[in-house]
Amino acid sequence: MSNLKADKIKSEMLEKIAEEIKKCKKCRLWKTRTNAVPGEGPSNAKIFFIGQAPGKQEDLQGRPFVGRAGKFLNMLLEKNNIARNKVFITSVLKCFPPKNRLPKNDEVKACLPYLIKQLEIVNPRIVVLLGNVAVKALKNHEILKGRKVICTYHPAAGMRFPKIRKKMLEDFKKIQI
Ligand code: URA
Ligand code: SF4
Repeated sequence: MSNLKADKIKSEMLEKIAEEIKKCKKCRLWKTRTNAVPGEGPSNAKIFFIGQAPGKQEDLQGRPFVGRAGKFLNMLLEKNNIARNKVFITSVLKCFPPKNRLPKNDEVKACLPYLIKQLEIVNPRIVVLLGNVAVKALKNHEILKGRKVICTYHPAAGMRFPKIRKKMLEDFKKIQI
């Protein structure tokens, strides 16, 4: 099968999962969301970024990392000549936790299968775990076997604390295909 055809099939599989996520009621967060945020990026992305959960802006727009943390992530990508439209970007949870509270364990458990399916389909070379929630949810998962895994901080922390910002700049330099 040609790569083009394979990528098209993979895009359709990702689209199907996104449709499932938009209707999902597997945890309590469906009741308070405006829009679910499945994530976005090409099906052949070599680099896959995983955040914590959508924030307010993401909930309103249905797209990942479009608020203040997203601007910070964009800056980190630009500094390292990584085109945002060539990478896959999503989060552990696909729905906004009210008041931006931390995800609960049962929410992570309910939502994680979507992320694992997205990783299986995209099959990226490099996975970047943005913050503790993503690190904790995935670090021992076999989906990461054979991939380069970069554990770093969440952009929301990087934009607040200069020391973390500096560490994130260093970590992002390790992202090379
Ligand atoms: N923080 C996340 O973890 N994900 C987003 O999409 C936005 C902010
Ligand atoms: Fe479903 Fe995940 Fe949204 Fe919970 S956070 S309702 S499991 S998509």
